[in-house]
Amino acid sequence: MRSIAVANQKGGVGKTTTSVNLAVGLARAGQDVCLVDLDPQAHATLHAGVQPGLHPCSAYDVLVGGASLADARVRAADRLHVIPSHIDLSAVEMALANRPGREGILRQRIEADDACQGRGDGVHHDAMIIDCPPSLGLLSLNAMASVDEVLLPLQPHFLALHGLSKLLETMELVADRVNPRLRLLGVVLCMYESSTRLANEVARDVEGFFAAGGDRHPAWAGARVFRTKIRRNIRLAEAPSFGQSIFDYAPDSHGAEDYAALAGEVLQAAVERREVRRAA
Ligand code: ADP
Ligand code: MG
Repeated sequence: MRSIAVANQKGGVGKTTTSVNLAVGLARAGQDVCLVDLDPQAHATLHAGVQPGLHPCSAYDVLVGGASLADARVRAADRLHVIPSHIDLSAVEMALANRPGREGILRQRIEADDACQGRGDGVHHDAMIIDCPPSLGLLSLNAMASVDEVLLPLQPHFLALHGLSKLLETMELVADRVNPRLRLLGVVLCMYESSTRLANEVARDVEGFFAAGGDRHPAWAGARVFRTKIRRNIRLAEAPSFGQSIFDYAPDSHGAEDYAALAGEVLQAAVERREVRRAA
């Protein structure tokens, strides 16, 4: 199973919008997807059409209470399951304060679920997408300790690159200590306004940053800036309150076009990675 955490410690950059619409974009491309909502605000849960708090089990119970992924998994749509968030997740740091190995809990639950899939029981997923909260605390650490890839949404803003180093540092730490497979899949520019000079400049800066050579940590050395830029589109902002992905809410919008293209690029990246591995 492929696993991708959508992370950026800044709020309002497009993490949740990207998590949900990428998950549904991949599902529409034929993948069985599990969307994990690790943000206590539960916006991804709502956006995917699942009512937080309605189900007896949530990501909180998985992390704190010993529940399995199967206990918390809700079927949201064709090929899409959701591990719902719960407001209690905001207290997870306190609840796990004295628990040894607390960064690795989600990873253990995913491995246990994989083992079930391997035995032929449980639900098979081709991909898992984890929506992270806007911080680099225990929830994001659990996500990064669990996945192979991080997808970083950036809003073209003059301080966009500023927050990047903190995230890359955190990835390096997690890769060195607990999850050597961790790689930055790439950066996706969100709420992009191609007509503004600022957006174009930031895009160039970010591309330059990743293209520059030098001594880089393997966790992010091979990252790309996705060709697809998610344009600012009001439909994307409206869709969550209907509990619908952009593909259901406004299939003919720029938002649907952009997220379908991003899903295509994300799928293509996996093909390229397999080819590189085979050639090595
Ligand atoms: P984060 O999860 O990083 O906090 P969100 O995905 O929730 O960010 O996005 C922040 C706000 O911007 C939300 O209200 C969302 O609906 C809106 N939004 C996200 N992407 C776009 C876009 N491309 N065009 C217009 N609005 C967007
Ligand atoms: Mg969010």
